[in-house]
Amino acid sequence: MTTTVKLICTECAAEAGPLDWRCSVCGGPIDFAEPLRFRPEVVDDGDFSLWRYAAMLPVERRFTLGEGLTPLVAAPIDGMKVYAKLEYLNPTGSYKDRGAVTMMNHLLAHGVQAVVEDSSGNAGASVAAYSTASGIYARIFVPETAAAGKKALIARFGGELVEVPGPQHAKTEACVEAAKTTTYASHAWSPYFILGQTTVAWEVWEQMRWRVPDVILSPVGHGGLFLGFTRGFQALYEAGLIDRVPRMIAVQSAGCDPVVRAWETGAEVPPHVTPTPTVADGIIVETPVRGKEVMRAIRESNGAAIRVENDAILDAQTRLAWHGLMVEPTSAAAAAALPEVRRLLGDEVEIVMPLTGNGLKMLG
Ligand SMILES: [Zn+2]
Repeated sequence: MTTTVKLICTECAAEAGPLDWRCSVCGGPIDFAEPLRFRPEVVDDGDFSLWRYAAMLPVERRFTLGEGLTPLVAAPIDGMKVYAKLEYLNPTGSYKDRGAVTMMNHLLAHGVQAVVEDSSGNAGASVAAYSTASGIYARIFVPETAAAGKKALIARFGGELVEVPGPQHAKTEACVEAAKTTTYASHAWSPYFILGQTTVAWEVWEQMRWRVPDVILSPVGHGGLFLGFTRGFQALYEAGLIDRVPRMIAVQSAGCDPVVRAWETGAEVPPHVTPTPTVADGIIVETPVRGKEVMRAIRESNGAAIRVENDAILDAQTRLAWHGLMVEPTSAAAAAALPEVRRLLGDEVEIVMPLTGNGLKMLG
Protein backbone atom coordinates (compact mmCIF):
# COMPACT_ATOMS: atom_id res chain seq x y z
CA MET A 1 0.00 0.00 0.00
CA THR A 2 2.73 2.43 1.00
CA THR A 3 4.66 2.09 -2.24
CA THR A 4 1.70 3.10 -4.43
CA VAL A 5 1.12 6.49 -2.80
CA LYS A 6 1.77 9.33 -5.24
CA LEU A 7 3.39 12.50 -3.89
CA ILE A 8 3.58 15.78 -5.80
CA CYS A 9 4.90 19.30 -5.28
CA THR A 10 2.19 21.77 -4.26
CA GLU A 11 3.93 24.53 -6.23
CA CYS A 12 5.04 22.99 -9.54
CA ALA A 13 3.27 19.57 -9.48
CA ALA A 14 6.53 17.66 -10.06
CA GLU A 15 6.38 14.12 -8.72
CA ALA A 16 8.33 13.50 -5.52
CA GLY A 17 9.96 10.42 -4.02
CA PRO A 18 8.79 8.83 -0.76
CA LEU A 19 11.77 10.13 1.24
CA ASP A 20 12.05 13.62 -0.31
CA TRP A 21 11.32 16.31 2.25
CA ARG A 22 10.67 19.01 -0.34
CA CYS A 23 10.42 19.33 -4.12
CA SER A 24 13.76 18.67 -5.81
CA VAL A 25 12.78 20.95 -8.71
CA CYS A 26 11.48 24.13 -7.01
CA GLY A 27 11.89 23.54 -3.26
CA GLY A 28 8.13 23.72 -2.60
CA PRO A 29 6.23 21.59 -0.07
CA ILE A 30 5.23 18.07 -1.09
CA ASP A 31 1.78 16.62 -0.64
CA PHE A 32 -0.38 13.62 -1.50
CA ALA A 33 -1.66 13.77 -5.07
CA GLU A 34 -5.06 12.47 -3.93
CA PRO A 35 -7.01 13.99 -1.00
CA LEU A 36 -8.04 11.64 1.81
CA ARG A 37 -11.44 9.98 1.53
CA PHE A 38 -13.49 9.32 4.65
CA ARG A 39 -15.42 6.05 4.68
CA PRO A 40 -17.46 5.62 7.88
CA GLU A 41 -17.99 1.92 7.24
CA VAL A 42 -14.28 1.13 7.73
CA VAL A 43 -13.81 2.91 11.09
CA ASP A 44 -12.63 0.23 13.54
CA ASP A 45 -14.84 0.80 16.60
CA GLY A 46 -12.78 -1.71 18.57
CA ASP A 47 -9.58 0.33 18.31
CA PHE A 48 -9.25 3.10 20.90
CA SER A 49 -6.47 5.10 19.27
CA LEU A 50 -6.17 7.06 16.03
CA TRP A 51 -5.60 3.71 14.33
CA ARG A 52 -9.37 3.21 14.37
CA TYR A 53 -9.03 5.09 11.04
CA ALA A 54 -6.19 2.87 9.78
CA ALA A 55 -8.09 1.63 6.73
CA MET A 56 -8.24 5.22 5.40
CA LEU A 57 -4.61 6.16 6.05
CA PRO A 58 -2.06 5.56 3.26
CA VAL A 59 0.53 4.21 5.70
CA GLU A 60 1.03 0.79 7.21
CA ARG A 61 0.90 0.48 11.01
CA ARG A 62 4.10 -1.22 12.17
CA PHE A 63 4.13 0.22 15.67
CA THR A 64 2.09 2.50 17.93
CA LEU A 65 2.41 4.07 21.37
CA GLY A 66 -1.35 4.42 21.72
CA GLU A 67 -1.70 7.96 20.36
CA GLY A 68 -4.99 9.67 19.58
CA LEU A 69 -8.58 9.34 20.82
CA THR A 70 -7.91 12.05 23.38
CA PRO A 71 -10.79 13.24 25.62
CA LEU A 72 -13.13 16.05 24.57
CA VAL A 73 -14.33 17.85 27.69
CA ALA A 74 -16.56 20.85 28.41
CA ALA A 75 -14.52 23.85 29.60
CA PRO A 76 -16.95 26.76 29.99
CA ILE A 77 -14.51 29.66 30.00
CA ASP A 78 -15.70 33.28 29.95
CA GLY A 79 -19.26 31.92 29.82
CA MET A 80 -18.69 30.53 26.34
CA LYS A 81 -19.50 27.08 24.97
CA VAL A 82 -15.99 25.70 24.82
CA TYR A 83 -14.96 22.07 24.49
CA ALA A 84 -11.30 21.31 25.08
CA LYS A 85 -9.69 18.50 23.09
CA LEU A 86 -6.99 17.22 25.40
CA GLU A 87 -4.19 16.71 22.92
CA TYR A 88 -1.63 17.14 25.69
CA LEU A 89 -2.58 13.69 26.96
CA ASN A 90 -0.92 12.00 23.99
CA PRO A 91 2.03 9.68 24.85
CA THR A 92 4.79 12.34 24.85
CA GLY A 93 2.55 15.14 26.05
CA SER A 94 1.59 16.88 22.82
CA TYR A 95 -0.54 16.62 19.68
CA LYS A 96 2.65 16.05 17.69
CA ASP A 97 2.42 12.33 18.45
CA ARG A 98 -0.38 11.97 15.90
CA GLY A 99 1.93 13.15 13.15
CA ALA A 100 5.05 11.48 14.49
CA VAL A 101 3.46 8.04 14.46
CA THR A 102 2.27 8.25 10.85
CA MET A 103 5.53 9.84 9.68
CA MET A 104 7.78 7.32 11.47
CA ASN A 105 5.70 4.35 10.29
CA HIS A 106 6.12 5.65 6.75
CA LEU A 107 9.89 5.98 7.19
CA LEU A 108 10.11 2.51 8.77
CA ALA A 109 8.31 1.03 5.77
CA HIS A 110 11.06 2.51 3.58
CA GLY A 111 13.89 1.07 5.66
CA VAL A 112 15.07 4.33 7.23
CA GLN A 113 17.48 3.77 10.15
CA ALA A 114 18.43 7.33 11.18
CA VAL A 115 16.69 10.71 11.03
CA VAL A 116 17.24 14.36 11.84
CA GLU A 117 14.55 16.81 13.00
CA ASP A 118 14.48 20.40 14.26
CA SER A 119 12.07 21.58 16.90
CA SER A 120 11.67 24.06 19.72
CA GLY A 121 10.59 21.18 21.90
CA ASN A 122 7.38 19.19 21.53
CA ALA A 123 7.99 17.87 18.02
CA GLY A 124 11.56 17.03 18.96
CA ALA A 125 10.43 15.03 21.99
CA SER A 126 7.80 13.27 19.93
CA VAL A 127 10.10 12.36 17.04
CA ALA A 128 12.79 11.25 19.53
CA ALA A 129 10.35 8.97 21.32
CA TYR A 130 8.81 7.47 18.21
CA SER A 131 12.22 6.99 16.60
CA THR A 132 13.87 5.29 19.54
CA ALA A 133 10.85 3.13 20.27
CA SER A 134 10.84 1.87 16.70
CA GLY A 135 14.60 1.32 16.47
CA ILE A 136 15.47 4.46 14.46
CA TYR A 137 18.33 6.76 15.58
CA ALA A 138 17.24 10.41 15.94
CA ARG A 139 19.33 13.58 16.10
CA ILE A 140 17.21 16.53 17.23
CA PHE A 141 18.31 20.13 16.58
CA VAL A 142 16.97 22.61 19.14
CA PRO A 143 17.64 26.28 19.93
CA GLU A 144 20.03 26.64 22.85
CA THR A 145 17.33 28.74 24.50
CA ALA A 146 14.63 26.02 24.37
CA ALA A 147 12.90 25.20 27.66
CA ALA A 148 15.09 23.00 29.87
CA GLY A 149 12.27 20.53 30.54
CA LYS A 150 11.68 19.99 26.83
CA LYS A 151 15.38 19.45 26.13
CA ALA A 152 15.59 16.94 28.98
CA LEU A 153 12.59 15.11 27.57
CA ILE A 154 14.20 14.75 24.12
CA ALA A 155 17.33 13.26 25.69
CA ARG A 156 15.33 10.99 28.00
CA PHE A 157 13.43 9.61 24.99
CA GLY A 158 16.77 8.60 23.49
CA GLY A 159 17.25 11.42 20.99
CA GLU A 160 20.71 12.92 20.45
CA LEU A 161 20.28 16.56 21.41
CA VAL A 162 22.06 19.12 19.21
CA GLU A 163 21.82 22.59 20.76
CA VAL A 164 22.17 25.41 18.25
CA PRO A 165 22.95 28.99 19.37
CA GLY A 166 21.39 32.02 17.68
CA PRO A 167 17.84 32.77 16.52
CA GLN A 168 15.08 30.14 16.10
CA HIS A 169 15.78 29.58 12.41
CA ALA A 170 19.44 28.70 13.07
CA LYS A 171 18.43 25.23 14.29
CA THR A 172 16.49 24.66 11.07
CA GLU A 173 19.44 25.70 8.93
CA ALA A 174 21.73 23.33 10.84
CA CYS A 175 19.20 20.52 10.46
CA VAL A 176 18.71 21.12 6.72
CA GLU A 177 22.49 20.90 6.30
CA ALA A 178 22.52 17.56 8.16
CA ALA A 179 19.55 16.37 6.08
CA LYS A 180 21.78 16.32 2.98
CA THR A 181 23.30 13.07 4.20
CA THR A 182 20.45 11.50 6.16
CA THR A 183 16.62 11.45 6.29
CA TYR A 184 14.80 14.58 7.43
CA ALA A 185 11.81 13.59 9.58
CA SER A 186 10.27 17.05 9.50
CA HIS A 187 7.09 17.88 11.39
CA ALA A 188 6.90 21.06 9.31
CA TRP A 189 7.44 19.59 5.83
CA SER A 190 6.30 15.96 5.80
CA PRO A 191 2.80 15.34 4.41
CA TYR A 192 2.84 12.14 6.47
CA PHE A 193 2.98 14.30 9.58
CA ILE A 194 -0.18 16.20 8.62
CA LEU A 195 -1.75 12.87 7.73
CA GLY A 196 -1.78 11.88 11.40
CA GLN A 197 -3.16 15.28 12.41
CA THR A 198 -6.17 14.73 10.15
CA THR A 199 -7.53 12.15 12.56
CA VAL A 200 -8.23 14.79 15.22
CA ALA A 201 -11.11 16.16 13.13
CA TRP A 202 -12.63 12.73 12.75
CA GLU A 203 -12.42 12.12 16.49
CA VAL A 204 -14.17 15.42 17.24
CA TRP A 205 -16.93 14.47 14.80
CA GLU A 206 -17.39 11.09 16.48
CA GLN A 207 -17.14 12.50 20.03
CA MET A 208 -19.78 15.14 19.27
CA ARG A 209 -22.04 12.31 18.08
CA TRP A 210 -21.45 12.77 14.38
CA ARG A 211 -21.61 16.51 14.09
CA VAL A 212 -19.07 19.35 14.18
CA PRO A 213 -18.73 22.56 16.24
CA ASP A 214 -19.18 26.08 14.85
CA VAL A 215 -15.54 27.02 15.46
CA ILE A 216 -12.12 25.43 15.78
CA LEU A 217 -9.88 27.76 17.78
CA SER A 218 -6.25 26.72 17.52
CA PRO A 219 -2.75 28.08 18.01
CA VAL A 220 -0.83 28.18 14.71
CA GLY A 221 2.89 27.93 14.10
CA HIS A 222 3.46 25.99 10.89
CA GLY A 223 -0.22 25.08 11.02
CA GLY A 224 0.09 21.28 10.99
CA LEU A 225 -2.74 20.71 13.43
CA PHE A 226 -4.78 23.51 11.86
CA LEU A 227 -4.46 21.92 8.43
CA GLY A 228 -5.11 18.47 9.89
CA PHE A 229 -8.46 19.73 11.20
CA THR A 230 -9.20 21.40 7.87
CA ARG A 231 -8.39 18.34 5.76
CA GLY A 232 -10.27 16.02 8.12
CA PHE A 233 -13.43 18.12 8.04
CA GLN A 234 -13.13 18.52 4.28
CA ALA A 235 -13.08 14.72 3.93
CA LEU A 236 -16.22 14.44 6.09
CA TYR A 237 -17.90 17.11 3.98
CA GLU A 238 -16.96 15.40 0.70
CA ALA A 239 -18.36 12.15 2.10
CA GLY A 240 -21.69 13.91 2.75
CA LEU A 241 -21.43 13.36 6.53
CA ILE A 242 -21.54 17.04 7.53
CA ASP A 243 -23.22 19.95 5.75
CA ARG A 244 -20.64 22.61 6.64
CA VAL A 245 -17.08 22.78 7.91
CA PRO A 246 -16.35 24.72 11.14
CA ARG A 247 -14.92 28.23 11.00
CA MET A 248 -11.18 27.82 11.34
CA ILE A 249 -9.73 30.49 13.64
CA ALA A 250 -5.94 30.72 13.94
CA VAL A 251 -4.31 32.24 17.02
CA GLN A 252 -0.78 33.62 17.15
CA SER A 253 1.21 35.58 19.70
CA ALA A 254 2.02 39.24 19.15
CA GLY A 255 5.66 38.14 19.20
CA CYS A 256 5.35 36.08 16.00
CA ASP A 257 2.21 36.69 13.93
CA PRO A 258 2.76 36.18 10.17
CA VAL A 259 -0.63 34.50 9.66
CA VAL A 260 -2.49 37.28 11.49
CA ARG A 261 -0.67 39.91 9.46
CA ALA A 262 -1.61 38.17 6.21
CA TRP A 263 -5.22 37.92 7.37
CA GLU A 264 -5.35 41.62 8.22
CA THR A 265 -3.89 42.69 4.89
CA GLY A 266 -5.62 40.10 2.71
CA ALA A 267 -2.29 38.61 1.60
CA GLU A 268 -2.32 35.10 0.12
CA VAL A 269 1.00 34.18 1.72
CA PRO A 270 2.11 35.12 5.26
CA PRO A 271 4.94 37.69 5.24
CA HIS A 272 8.28 36.94 6.89
CA VAL A 273 8.39 38.34 10.40
CA THR A 274 11.21 38.84 12.88
CA PRO A 275 10.00 37.46 16.21
CA THR A 276 10.09 39.39 19.46
CA PRO A 277 10.10 37.60 22.85
CA THR A 278 6.92 35.62 23.59
CA VAL A 279 5.84 33.06 26.17
CA ALA A 280 4.25 31.01 23.36
CA ASP A 281 7.53 29.36 22.33
CA GLY A 282 5.84 26.53 20.42
CA ILE A 283 4.44 28.84 17.74
CA ILE A 284 7.50 30.93 16.96
CA VAL A 285 7.53 30.18 13.23
CA GLU A 286 8.79 33.02 11.08
CA THR A 287 7.70 31.47 7.78
CA PRO A 288 5.04 28.73 7.92
CA VAL A 289 5.89 26.03 5.36
CA ARG A 290 2.29 25.71 4.14
CA GLY A 291 1.33 29.32 4.81
CA LYS A 292 -0.67 29.62 1.60
CA GLU A 293 -2.81 26.62 2.55
CA VAL A 294 -3.32 27.99 6.07
CA MET A 295 -4.62 31.29 4.64
CA ARG A 296 -6.90 29.42 2.24
CA ALA A 297 -8.27 27.30 5.11
CA ILE A 298 -9.15 30.44 7.07
CA ARG A 299 -10.72 32.20 4.09
CA GLU A 300 -12.73 29.26 2.78
CA SER A 301 -14.15 28.37 6.21
CA ASN A 302 -15.18 31.96 6.94
CA GLY A 303 -12.69 31.92 9.80
CA ALA A 304 -10.30 34.52 11.20
CA ALA A 305 -6.83 35.04 12.64
CA ILE A 306 -6.34 36.56 16.08
CA ARG A 307 -3.27 38.03 17.79
CA VAL A 308 -2.85 37.71 21.57
CA GLU A 309 -0.45 39.37 23.99
CA ASN A 310 1.82 37.67 26.55
CA ASP A 311 -0.11 38.75 29.64
CA ALA A 312 -3.40 37.50 28.14
CA ILE A 313 -1.75 34.13 27.36
CA LEU A 314 -0.41 33.72 30.90
CA ASP A 315 -3.76 34.74 32.37
CA ALA A 316 -5.53 32.18 30.15
CA GLN A 317 -3.03 29.51 31.22
CA THR A 318 -3.92 30.14 34.86
CA ARG A 319 -7.65 30.04 34.17
CA LEU A 320 -7.28 26.77 32.26
CA ALA A 321 -5.39 25.34 35.25
CA TRP A 322 -8.34 26.29 37.45
CA HIS A 323 -10.46 24.08 35.19
CA GLY A 324 -7.98 21.26 35.81
CA LEU A 325 -6.33 21.75 32.43
CA MET A 326 -2.54 21.86 32.82
CA VAL A 327 -1.20 23.25 29.55
CA GLU A 328 1.86 25.13 28.38
CA PRO A 329 1.58 28.84 27.42
CA THR A 330 1.51 28.08 23.67
CA SER A 331 -1.65 26.02 24.17
CA ALA A 332 -3.23 28.74 26.30
CA ALA A 333 -2.89 31.23 23.44
CA ALA A 334 -6.13 29.84 21.99
CA ALA A 335 -8.03 30.47 25.23
CA ALA A 336 -6.58 33.99 25.35
CA ALA A 337 -8.38 34.68 22.07
CA LEU A 338 -11.85 33.86 23.44
CA PRO A 339 -12.81 37.51 24.16
CA GLU A 340 -12.08 38.37 20.54
CA VAL A 341 -14.09 35.35 19.32
CA ARG A 342 -17.00 36.59 21.40
CA ARG A 343 -16.65 40.06 19.87
CA LEU A 344 -16.64 38.58 16.35
CA LEU A 345 -19.26 35.83 16.67
CA GLY A 346 -21.15 36.33 19.96
CA ASP A 347 -21.25 33.96 22.94
CA GLU A 348 -23.60 31.33 21.52
CA VAL A 349 -21.10 29.69 19.16
CA GLU A 350 -19.88 26.21 19.97
CA ILE A 351 -16.08 26.12 20.05
CA VAL A 352 -13.63 23.23 20.04
CA MET A 353 -10.21 24.24 21.29
CA PRO A 354 -7.34 21.76 21.01
CA LEU A 355 -5.05 21.95 24.05
CA THR A 356 -1.81 21.09 22.35
CA GLY A 357 1.00 20.69 24.90
CA ASN A 358 1.31 19.46 28.48
CA GLY A 359 2.09 22.13 31.09
CA LEU A 360 3.91 19.60 33.27
CA LYS A 361 6.88 19.91 30.90
CA MET A 362 7.22 23.57 31.87
CA LEU A 363 7.04 23.23 35.66
CA GLY A 364 10.08 23.46 37.90
ZN1 LIG B 1 8.13 21.95 -7.16
